[in-house]
Amino acid sequence: MNSTVDYFKVEDLLGEEYLLIRDTIRDFVRVEILPTIDQKAQHHEEIPGLMKKLGSVGALGPFVPSAYGGAGLDYMAYGVIMQELEAGDSAIRSAASVQSSLVMYPIYTFGSETQKNKYLPMLASGDWVGAFGLTEPNHGSDPSSMETRLVKDGEGYRLNGAKTWITNAPICDLAVVWAKDEDGKVNGVIVERADAGFSTPEIKDKWSLRASRTGELVFDNIYIPSDRLLPEVSSMRGPLSCLNSARYGISWGVIGAAIDCYQVALQYALERTQFGKPIAAYQLQQKKLAEMVTEITKAQLLSWRLGVLKNDNRATPQQISMAKRNNVNMALQVARESRQILGAMGIVGGYPIMRHMMNLESVITYEGTHDVHLLITGQDITGISGF
Ligand SMILES: Cc1cc2nc3c(=O)[nH]c(=O)nc-3n(C[C@H](O)[C@H](O)[C@H](O)COP(=O)(O)OP(=O)(O)OC[C@H]3O[C@@H](n4cnc5c(N)ncnc54)[C@H](O)[C@@H]3O)c2cc1C
Repeated sequence: MNSTVDYFKVEDLLGEEYLLIRDTIRDFVRVEILPTIDQKAQHHEEIPGLMKKLGSVGALGPFVPSAYGGAGLDYMAYGVIMQELEAGDSAIRSAASVQSSLVMYPIYTFGSETQKNKYLPMLASGDWVGAFGLTEPNHGSDPSSMETRLVKDGEGYRLNGAKTWITNAPICDLAVVWAKDEDGKVNGVIVERADAGFSTPEIKDKWSLRASRTGELVFDNIYIPSDRLLPEVSSMRGPLSCLNSARYGISWGVIGAAIDCYQVALQYALERTQFGKPIAAYQLQQKKLAEMVTEITKAQLLSWRLGVLKNDNRATPQQISMAKRNNVNMALQVARESRQILGAMGIVGGYPIMRHMMNLESVITYEGTHDVHLLITGQDITGISGF
Protein backbone atom coordinates (compact mmCIF):
# COMPACT_ATOMS: atom_id res chain seq x y z
CA MET A 1 0.00 0.00 0.00
CA ASN A 2 1.34 3.45 -0.95
CA SER A 3 -0.25 6.05 1.32
CA THR A 4 2.37 8.72 0.58
CA VAL A 5 1.33 12.21 -0.45
CA ASP A 6 4.60 12.69 -2.31
CA TYR A 7 3.88 10.35 -5.19
CA PHE A 8 6.55 11.75 -7.52
CA LYS A 9 9.23 12.31 -4.87
CA VAL A 10 9.11 16.10 -4.89
CA GLU A 11 11.02 15.87 -1.59
CA ASP A 12 14.08 14.83 -3.63
CA LEU A 13 13.69 17.95 -5.76
CA LEU A 14 13.44 20.13 -2.69
CA GLY A 15 16.40 18.80 -0.73
CA GLU A 16 17.50 18.96 2.91
CA GLU A 17 17.35 22.71 3.61
CA TYR A 18 13.71 23.07 2.55
CA LEU A 19 12.67 19.84 4.26
CA LEU A 20 14.07 21.18 7.52
CA ILE A 21 12.03 24.37 7.09
CA ARG A 22 8.97 22.29 6.23
CA ASP A 23 9.34 20.16 9.35
CA THR A 24 9.82 23.22 11.57
CA ILE A 25 6.61 24.81 10.32
CA ARG A 26 4.78 21.46 10.41
CA ASP A 27 5.68 21.14 14.10
CA PHE A 28 4.60 24.72 14.74
CA VAL A 29 1.20 24.02 13.18
CA ARG A 30 0.82 20.79 15.18
CA VAL A 31 1.56 22.53 18.47
CA GLU A 32 0.17 26.05 18.03
CA ILE A 33 -2.68 25.75 15.53
CA LEU A 34 -4.25 22.29 15.38
CA PRO A 35 -5.30 21.97 19.05
CA THR A 36 -7.66 24.98 18.89
CA ILE A 37 -8.30 25.83 15.24
CA ASP A 38 -11.64 24.05 14.96
CA GLN A 39 -12.97 25.75 18.10
CA LYS A 40 -11.62 29.15 16.96
CA ALA A 41 -13.20 28.80 13.50
CA GLN A 42 -16.51 27.65 15.01
CA HIS A 43 -16.54 30.74 17.26
CA HIS A 44 -15.33 33.13 14.58
CA GLU A 45 -12.19 34.05 16.54
CA GLU A 46 -8.54 34.29 15.59
CA ILE A 47 -5.77 32.35 17.35
CA PRO A 48 -4.56 34.69 20.16
CA GLY A 49 -1.18 36.28 19.43
CA LEU A 50 -1.05 34.57 16.04
CA MET A 51 1.12 37.15 14.32
CA LYS A 52 3.81 37.07 17.01
CA LYS A 53 3.76 33.29 16.93
CA LEU A 54 4.22 33.33 13.15
CA GLY A 55 7.05 35.84 13.57
CA SER A 56 8.80 33.62 16.08
CA VAL A 57 9.21 30.84 13.48
CA GLY A 58 10.30 33.14 10.66
CA ALA A 59 7.04 32.83 8.72
CA LEU A 60 6.62 36.59 8.19
CA GLY A 61 8.52 38.05 5.24
CA PRO A 62 10.81 35.03 4.99
CA PHE A 63 12.25 36.43 1.74
CA VAL A 64 13.12 39.80 3.35
CA PRO A 65 16.84 40.13 4.22
CA SER A 66 17.84 39.63 7.85
CA ALA A 67 19.11 43.24 8.00
CA TYR A 68 15.43 44.25 8.06
CA GLY A 69 14.34 41.49 10.43
CA GLY A 70 13.35 38.93 7.75
CA ALA A 71 14.61 35.36 7.56
CA GLY A 72 16.68 35.98 4.41
CA LEU A 73 15.28 32.87 2.72
CA ASP A 74 14.23 32.40 -0.91
CA TYR A 75 10.91 31.87 -2.64
CA MET A 76 11.07 28.07 -2.52
CA ALA A 77 11.27 28.34 1.27
CA TYR A 78 8.36 30.80 1.25
CA GLY A 79 6.28 28.30 -0.73
CA VAL A 80 7.08 25.42 1.62
CA ILE A 81 6.15 27.57 4.65
CA MET A 82 2.82 28.55 3.07
CA GLN A 83 2.01 24.89 2.32
CA GLU A 84 2.52 23.83 5.92
CA LEU A 85 0.57 26.79 7.33
CA GLU A 86 -2.44 26.14 5.10
CA ALA A 87 -2.46 22.46 6.07
CA GLY A 88 -3.42 23.97 9.45
CA ASP A 89 -5.97 26.45 8.13
CA SER A 90 -6.22 28.93 5.24
CA ALA A 91 -6.74 31.70 7.82
CA ILE A 92 -3.25 31.09 9.19
CA ARG A 93 -1.69 31.10 5.72
CA SER A 94 -3.73 34.21 4.83
CA ALA A 95 -2.30 36.06 7.83
CA ALA A 96 1.25 35.15 6.81
CA SER A 97 0.56 35.89 3.10
CA VAL A 98 -0.84 39.35 3.73
CA GLN A 99 1.88 40.34 6.17
CA SER A 100 4.68 38.94 3.95
CA SER A 101 3.64 39.54 0.35
CA LEU A 102 1.18 42.40 0.59
CA VAL A 103 2.68 44.53 3.36
CA MET A 104 6.38 43.71 3.84
CA TYR A 105 7.05 43.08 0.15
CA PRO A 106 5.85 46.53 -1.05
CA ILE A 107 7.65 48.32 1.80
CA TYR A 108 10.83 46.37 1.02
CA THR A 109 10.54 46.79 -2.76
CA PHE A 110 9.11 50.30 -3.11
CA GLY A 111 9.83 51.89 0.30
CA SER A 112 12.53 54.36 1.36
CA GLU A 113 15.43 53.22 3.56
CA THR A 114 13.79 55.01 6.51
CA GLN A 115 10.47 53.23 5.92
CA LYS A 116 12.21 49.85 5.64
CA ASN A 117 14.13 50.36 8.88
CA LYS A 118 11.09 51.66 10.72
CA TYR A 119 8.42 49.15 9.68
CA LEU A 120 9.97 45.87 8.46
CA PRO A 121 11.45 44.61 11.75
CA MET A 122 8.15 45.22 13.61
CA LEU A 123 6.24 43.42 10.87
CA ALA A 124 8.72 40.51 10.72
CA SER A 125 8.42 39.91 14.47
CA GLY A 126 4.63 40.18 14.35
CA ASP A 127 4.66 43.05 16.86
CA TRP A 128 2.75 45.02 14.26
CA VAL A 129 -0.05 43.60 12.13
CA GLY A 130 -0.29 44.88 8.56
CA ALA A 131 -3.21 45.05 6.12
CA PHE A 132 -3.34 45.59 2.35
CA GLY A 133 -6.01 47.86 0.91
CA LEU A 134 -6.75 47.43 -2.78
CA THR A 135 -10.34 46.15 -3.15
CA GLU A 136 -13.12 48.75 -2.91
CA PRO A 137 -16.88 48.41 -2.56
CA ASN A 138 -17.36 49.21 -6.27
CA HIS A 139 -14.10 47.80 -7.66
CA GLY A 140 -12.99 44.22 -6.96
CA SER A 141 -11.73 42.45 -10.08
CA ASP A 142 -11.09 45.85 -11.68
CA PRO A 143 -8.93 47.63 -9.08
CA SER A 144 -7.46 50.10 -11.58
CA SER A 145 -10.84 51.89 -11.52
CA MET A 146 -10.32 52.61 -7.78
CA GLU A 147 -11.98 55.72 -6.31
CA THR A 148 -9.78 56.24 -3.22
CA ARG A 149 -8.07 59.60 -3.66
CA LEU A 150 -4.82 61.21 -2.50
CA VAL A 151 -4.86 64.99 -2.88
CA LYS A 152 -1.94 67.35 -2.15
CA ASP A 153 -2.36 69.42 1.03
CA GLY A 154 0.60 71.64 2.02
CA GLU A 155 3.64 69.48 2.77
CA GLY A 156 1.56 66.29 2.72
CA TYR A 157 -1.65 64.79 1.32
CA ARG A 158 -5.27 64.10 2.23
CA LEU A 159 -6.57 60.55 1.82
CA ASN A 160 -10.29 59.92 1.22
CA GLY A 161 -12.17 56.78 0.29
CA ALA A 162 -12.76 53.23 1.51
CA LYS A 163 -11.44 49.73 0.97
CA THR A 164 -13.39 46.59 1.77
CA TRP A 165 -12.88 42.86 2.28
CA ILE A 166 -9.53 43.61 3.88
CA THR A 167 -7.84 40.77 5.78
CA ASN A 168 -6.87 41.80 9.32
CA ALA A 169 -8.36 45.30 8.91
CA PRO A 170 -9.97 45.26 12.39
CA ILE A 171 -6.67 44.43 14.12
CA CYS A 172 -4.13 46.15 11.88
CA ASP A 173 -1.49 48.57 13.18
CA LEU A 174 -0.75 49.82 9.68
CA ALA A 175 -2.19 49.42 6.19
CA VAL A 176 -0.51 49.69 2.81
CA VAL A 177 -3.24 51.43 0.84
CA TRP A 178 -3.37 52.02 -2.92
CA ALA A 179 -4.87 55.36 -3.96
CA LYS A 180 -4.94 57.58 -7.05
CA ASP A 181 -3.35 61.03 -6.96
CA GLU A 182 -4.56 64.12 -8.83
CA ASP A 183 -2.78 62.91 -12.00
CA GLY A 184 -4.58 59.56 -11.82
CA LYS A 185 -1.38 57.75 -10.81
CA VAL A 186 -1.63 54.87 -8.32
CA ASN A 187 0.43 55.44 -5.17
CA GLY A 188 1.16 53.21 -2.18
CA VAL A 189 0.44 54.95 1.12
CA ILE A 190 1.27 53.77 4.63
CA VAL A 191 -1.66 54.51 6.96
CA GLU A 192 -1.10 54.03 10.69
CA ARG A 193 -3.74 53.03 13.22
CA ALA A 194 -3.40 56.31 15.15
CA ASP A 195 -4.04 58.51 12.08
CA ALA A 196 -7.03 60.78 12.69
CA GLY A 197 -9.91 59.85 10.38
CA PHE A 198 -8.94 56.16 10.07
CA SER A 199 -11.50 53.48 11.02
CA THR A 200 -11.76 49.75 10.35
CA PRO A 201 -15.29 48.33 10.80
CA GLU A 202 -15.42 44.53 10.86
CA ILE A 203 -17.29 42.31 8.39
CA LYS A 204 -18.99 39.74 10.60
CA ASP A 205 -20.72 36.38 10.15
CA LYS A 206 -18.54 34.99 7.35
CA TRP A 207 -18.97 31.29 6.60
CA SER A 208 -15.38 31.13 5.36
CA LEU A 209 -11.97 31.99 6.87
CA ARG A 210 -13.71 32.21 10.22
CA ALA A 211 -10.41 32.21 12.13
CA SER A 212 -9.37 35.36 10.25
CA ARG A 213 -10.70 38.88 10.86
CA THR A 214 -11.89 40.79 7.80
CA GLY A 215 -13.11 44.36 7.52
CA GLU A 216 -13.13 47.74 5.85
CA LEU A 217 -10.53 50.50 5.83
CA VAL A 218 -12.23 53.89 5.88
CA PHE A 219 -10.25 57.08 5.20
CA ASP A 220 -12.05 60.21 6.29
CA ASN A 221 -9.81 63.05 5.11
CA ILE A 222 -6.71 61.51 6.73
CA TYR A 223 -3.61 63.73 6.70
CA ILE A 224 -0.70 61.75 5.21
CA PRO A 225 2.82 63.23 5.58
CA SER A 226 4.75 62.90 2.32
CA ASP A 227 7.26 60.48 3.88
CA ARG A 228 4.43 57.91 4.18
CA LEU A 229 4.19 57.47 0.40
CA LEU A 230 6.16 54.55 -1.06
CA PRO A 231 8.61 56.53 -3.24
CA GLU A 232 9.61 53.90 -5.78
CA VAL A 233 6.30 53.22 -7.55
CA SER A 234 3.43 55.26 -8.94
CA SER A 235 1.38 52.86 -11.07
CA MET A 236 -0.63 49.63 -10.90
CA ARG A 237 2.73 47.81 -11.12
CA GLY A 238 2.88 48.38 -7.33
CA PRO A 239 -0.19 46.44 -6.20
CA LEU A 240 0.06 43.93 -9.07
CA SER A 241 3.60 42.91 -8.10
CA CYS A 242 2.39 42.37 -4.52
CA LEU A 243 -0.37 40.14 -5.85
CA ASN A 244 2.19 38.15 -7.84
CA SER A 245 4.13 37.39 -4.69
CA ALA A 246 0.99 36.47 -2.74
CA ARG A 247 -0.53 34.36 -5.52
CA TYR A 248 2.71 32.42 -5.76
CA GLY A 249 2.44 31.61 -2.04
CA ILE A 250 -1.23 30.63 -2.40
CA SER A 251 -0.37 28.16 -5.18
CA TRP A 252 1.78 26.33 -2.61
CA GLY A 253 -0.46 26.91 0.39
CA VAL A 254 -3.58 25.24 -0.93
CA ILE A 255 -1.64 22.03 -1.59
CA GLY A 256 -1.33 21.79 2.20
CA ALA A 257 -5.10 22.05 2.63
CA ALA A 258 -5.65 19.46 -0.14
CA ILE A 259 -3.18 17.00 1.41
CA ASP A 260 -4.85 17.35 4.80
CA CYS A 261 -8.27 16.56 3.28
CA TYR A 262 -6.93 13.67 1.21
CA GLN A 263 -5.13 12.05 4.15
CA VAL A 264 -8.22 12.21 6.33
CA ALA A 265 -10.43 10.83 3.54
CA LEU A 266 -8.04 7.96 2.75
CA GLN A 267 -7.80 6.93 6.39
CA TYR A 268 -11.55 7.16 6.84
CA ALA A 269 -12.20 5.11 3.70
CA LEU A 270 -9.90 2.36 4.97
CA GLU A 271 -11.60 2.25 8.38
CA ARG A 272 -15.28 2.79 7.57
CA THR A 273 -17.09 -0.44 6.76
CA GLN A 274 -20.36 -0.61 4.79
CA PHE A 275 -21.93 -3.68 3.16
CA GLY A 276 -19.29 -5.80 4.92
CA LYS A 277 -16.23 -4.13 3.40
CA PRO A 278 -14.18 -0.97 3.96
CA ILE A 279 -15.56 1.71 1.67
CA ALA A 280 -11.99 2.01 0.26
CA ALA A 281 -12.64 -1.35 -1.38
CA TYR A 282 -15.33 0.10 -3.67
CA GLN A 283 -14.26 1.30 -7.09
CA LEU A 284 -16.24 4.54 -6.87
CA GLN A 285 -14.34 5.56 -3.71
CA GLN A 286 -11.01 4.42 -5.17
CA LYS A 287 -11.67 6.57 -8.22
CA LYS A 288 -12.14 9.60 -6.00
CA LEU A 289 -8.95 8.89 -4.00
CA ALA A 290 -6.89 8.07 -7.12
CA GLU A 291 -7.96 11.28 -8.83
CA MET A 292 -7.22 13.30 -5.69
CA VAL A 293 -3.68 12.06 -5.29
CA THR A 294 -3.06 12.54 -9.02
CA GLU A 295 -4.23 16.16 -8.92
CA ILE A 296 -2.24 16.87 -5.74
CA THR A 297 0.86 15.43 -7.42
CA LYS A 298 0.40 17.59 -10.53
CA ALA A 299 -0.01 20.68 -8.31
CA GLN A 300 3.13 19.82 -6.32
CA LEU A 301 5.17 19.59 -9.51
CA LEU A 302 3.69 22.83 -10.86
CA SER A 303 4.51 24.76 -7.69
CA TRP A 304 8.00 23.27 -7.36
CA ARG A 305 8.79 24.32 -10.95
CA LEU A 306 7.28 27.75 -10.30
CA GLY A 307 9.54 28.02 -7.24
CA VAL A 308 12.61 27.35 -9.39
CA LEU A 309 11.51 30.00 -11.90
CA LYS A 310 10.66 32.49 -9.14
CA ASN A 311 14.05 32.05 -7.48
CA ASP A 312 15.64 32.70 -10.91
CA ASN A 313 13.45 35.79 -11.31
CA ARG A 314 11.94 34.18 -14.42
CA ALA A 315 8.38 33.42 -13.25
CA THR A 316 5.90 35.43 -15.31
CA PRO A 317 2.68 36.85 -13.81
CA GLN A 318 0.81 34.57 -16.23
CA GLN A 319 2.58 31.45 -14.94
CA ILE A 320 1.83 32.47 -11.35
CA SER A 321 -1.79 33.15 -12.29
CA MET A 322 -2.13 29.67 -13.84
CA ALA A 323 -0.64 27.97 -10.78
CA LYS A 324 -2.89 29.93 -8.38
CA ARG A 325 -6.01 29.09 -10.39
CA ASN A 326 -5.18 25.44 -10.98
CA ASN A 327 -4.06 24.64 -7.46
CA VAL A 328 -6.88 26.43 -5.63
CA ASN A 329 -9.46 24.74 -7.86
CA MET A 330 -7.71 21.42 -7.30
CA ALA A 331 -7.78 21.89 -3.51
CA LEU A 332 -11.45 22.85 -3.53
CA GLN A 333 -12.36 19.77 -5.59
CA VAL A 334 -10.29 17.56 -3.27
CA ALA A 335 -12.05 19.07 -0.24
CA ARG A 336 -15.48 18.50 -1.79
CA GLU A 337 -14.74 14.87 -2.76
CA SER A 338 -13.15 14.19 0.65
CA ARG A 339 -16.22 15.53 2.38
CA GLN A 340 -18.39 13.08 0.44
CA ILE A 341 -16.17 10.14 1.34
CA LEU A 342 -16.79 10.89 5.02
CA GLY A 343 -20.55 10.93 4.54
CA ALA A 344 -22.28 12.70 7.43
CA MET A 345 -19.02 12.80 9.39
CA GLY A 346 -17.69 15.09 6.66
CA ILE A 347 -19.67 18.01 8.00
CA VAL A 348 -18.57 17.90 11.64
CA GLY A 349 -15.82 19.96 13.20
CA GLY A 350 -13.92 16.96 14.56
CA TYR A 351 -12.63 16.53 10.99
CA PRO A 352 -10.96 19.44 9.17
CA ILE A 353 -12.59 18.93 5.78
CA MET A 354 -15.65 21.18 5.91
CA ARG A 355 -13.49 23.95 7.41
CA HIS A 356 -10.95 23.65 4.59
CA MET A 357 -13.76 23.52 2.03
CA MET A 358 -15.41 26.69 3.30
CA ASN A 359 -12.04 28.47 3.54
CA LEU A 360 -11.15 27.56 -0.04
CA GLU A 361 -14.34 29.27 -1.26
CA SER A 362 -12.64 32.53 -0.24
CA VAL A 363 -9.25 31.52 -1.58
CA ILE A 364 -10.75 30.82 -5.02
CA THR A 365 -12.16 34.39 -4.98
CA TYR A 366 -9.42 36.55 -3.46
CA GLU A 367 -6.15 37.46 -5.18
CA GLY A 368 -8.04 37.31 -8.49
CA THR A 369 -11.08 35.11 -8.97
CA HIS A 370 -10.87 31.78 -10.80
CA ASP A 371 -12.55 33.35 -13.83
CA VAL A 372 -10.25 36.39 -13.85
CA HIS A 373 -7.25 34.03 -13.88
CA LEU A 374 -8.80 32.15 -16.83
CA LEU A 375 -8.99 35.50 -18.63
CA ILE A 376 -5.31 36.17 -17.85
CA THR A 377 -4.28 32.86 -19.46
CA GLY A 378 -6.73 33.45 -22.31
CA GLN A 379 -5.22 36.83 -23.03
CA ASP A 380 -1.69 35.41 -22.82
CA ILE A 381 -2.29 32.63 -25.32
CA THR A 382 -4.49 34.53 -27.80
CA GLY A 383 -3.15 38.05 -27.46
CA ILE A 384 -6.77 39.23 -27.10
CA SER A 385 -8.12 40.72 -23.85
CA GLY A 386 -11.33 38.99 -22.81
CA PHE A 387 -11.88 41.32 -19.83
C1 LIG B 1 -12.03 36.62 2.98
C2 LIG B 1 -11.52 37.62 1.99
C3 LIG B 1 -10.36 38.33 2.27
C4 LIG B 1 -9.91 39.33 1.37
N1 LIG B 1 -8.76 40.04 1.68
C5 LIG B 1 -8.41 41.10 0.89
C6 LIG B 1 -7.34 41.97 1.27
O1 LIG B 1 -6.66 41.74 2.29
N2 LIG B 1 -7.07 43.07 0.50
C7 LIG B 1 -7.80 43.35 -0.62
O2 LIG B 1 -7.51 44.36 -1.27
N3 LIG B 1 -8.82 42.54 -1.03
C8 LIG B 1 -9.15 41.43 -0.29
N4 LIG B 1 -10.19 40.61 -0.66
C9 LIG B 1 -11.01 40.99 -1.81
C10 LIG B 1 -10.84 40.09 -3.02
O3 LIG B 1 -9.57 40.27 -3.59
C11 LIG B 1 -12.00 40.39 -3.99
O4 LIG B 1 -13.15 39.84 -3.40
C12 LIG B 1 -11.77 39.81 -5.38
O5 LIG B 1 -10.78 40.53 -6.07
C13 LIG B 1 -13.05 39.83 -6.24
O6 LIG B 1 -13.68 41.06 -6.19
P1 LIG B 1 -15.27 41.15 -5.88
O7 LIG B 1 -15.53 40.33 -4.67
O8 LIG B 1 -15.59 42.59 -5.85
O9 LIG B 1 -15.95 40.43 -7.09
P2 LIG B 1 -16.32 41.08 -8.52
O10 LIG B 1 -15.11 41.71 -9.12
O11 LIG B 1 -17.54 41.90 -8.39
O12 LIG B 1 -16.65 39.77 -9.35
C14 LIG B 1 -17.90 39.05 -9.21
C15 LIG B 1 -17.90 37.93 -10.24
O13 LIG B 1 -17.78 38.48 -11.56
C16 LIG B 1 -16.70 37.86 -12.25
N5 LIG B 1 -16.10 38.85 -13.17
C17 LIG B 1 -15.59 40.07 -12.87
N6 LIG B 1 -15.10 40.66 -13.96
C18 LIG B 1 -15.29 39.79 -14.99
C19 LIG B 1 -14.98 39.81 -16.39
N7 LIG B 1 -14.33 40.83 -16.97
N8 LIG B 1 -15.32 38.74 -17.14
C20 LIG B 1 -15.94 37.67 -16.57
N9 LIG B 1 -16.27 37.60 -15.27
C21 LIG B 1 -15.93 38.63 -14.48
C22 LIG B 1 -15.75 37.41 -11.17
O14 LIG B 1 -14.93 36.33 -11.63
C23 LIG B 1 -16.71 36.97 -10.07
O15 LIG B 1 -17.15 35.66 -10.30
C24 LIG B 1 -10.63 39.58 0.18
C25 LIG B 1 -11.78 38.82 -0.11
C26 LIG B 1 -12.21 37.84 0.79
C27 LIG B 1 -13.44 37.06 0.44
